[in-house]
Amino acid sequence: MDWIDLRSDTVTRPGPAMRAAMLQAEVGDDVYGDDPTVNALQQRLADDLGFEAGLFVPSGTQSNLLALMAHCQRGDEYVVGMEAHTYKYEGGGAAVLGSIQPQPIVQAEDGTLPLDAVERAIKPIDPHFARTKLVCLENTWHGRPLPLAYLADIRNLCARRGLALHLDGARLYNAAVAQDVGVRAIAQYFDSVSVCLSKGLGAPVGSVLLGAHALIETARRWRKVAGGGMRQAGILAAAGVYALDHHVARLADDHARAARLADALRDLPGIDVIGQHTNMVFLEVASSQVDALKPYMEAAHIRLSIGDGPGIRLVTHLDIDDAGLSRVIEAFQHF
Ligand SMILES: *Cc1c(COP(=O)(O)O)cnc(C)c1O
Repeated sequence: MDWIDLRSDTVTRPGPAMRAAMLQAEVGDDVYGDDPTVNALQQRLADDLGFEAGLFVPSGTQSNLLALMAHCQRGDEYVVGMEAHTYKYEGGGAAVLGSIQPQPIVQAEDGTLPLDAVERAIKPIDPHFARTKLVCLENTWHGRPLPLAYLADIRNLCARRGLALHLDGARLYNAAVAQDVGVRAIAQYFDSVSVCLSKGLGAPVGSVLLGAHALIETARRWRKVAGGGMRQAGILAAAGVYALDHHVARLADDHARAARLADALRDLPGIDVIGQHTNMVFLEVASSQVDALKPYMEAAHIRLSIGDGPGIRLVTHLDIDDAGLSRVIEAFQHF
């Protein structure tokens, strides 16, 4: 029996057509800027999102780190959500490697940073304080696309207060597909955007950072320093190009399957469906049952990520089809 893995959309494996594209990729040494496939991927995303330049990097973590280090100097500060990936799940890299101080603030339920809280967090120019330089948002936020009207508001605030605005757009394409807009309609509000190719888009490796020429040149320097300068990386970039050509529109299927899953689980006793947004379903299972759930699902060849609390996140993706989803629903029905 095949495994069905609902832990994350990072688990997708490249299919035969993607592997063929990788095999045939034209390559060169990307540290010299000579890899035509990397260059094509960077230019393609820059054009699609409306930026001057792009930089292919090994991971989303590195992409966000390079953005923070390109926007901020030692002793500068960035404003970020308390639960944001950049702040909470990237090993404190901006502080560790960039000497950049985070100013975390509590996010609203929808993942936005309340404008008045951002405003209050900005420090006066005074030697007592770190210099506030940047605001960082995440979209989608736990599967939720950030409202476009909010993006316009935070952009105005940043312009008024002289701050830059970065987007951790690990799942930018999920947001665009869910809101039925082009990625540019979201990216236009930001000075830089990081996009993951290895999440819902289904490439095995890689992220791209987009921004103005000068910002990307600074990020390129930090990429080398961080050990992220790769040589014949076109093999990997080819998977990204393939994903952009073939795996964007189909994200709507992942969203529809997540909705179907949420609807099916909503009726079951002992399970509370807390929410469903794009490709994610959030559940709570009665605390008396939660310990039994994981081994039960493992026996059915279904992988879930179950943390310490009652909350469980289920993520749909490229490697879960309708038949797989039915197996998951049946397993929950018989639990
Ligand atoms: C996965 C993810 C990242 C970074 O991804 P890696 O490629 O695993 O380093 C950044 N932000 C968000 C919101 C993510 O989900």
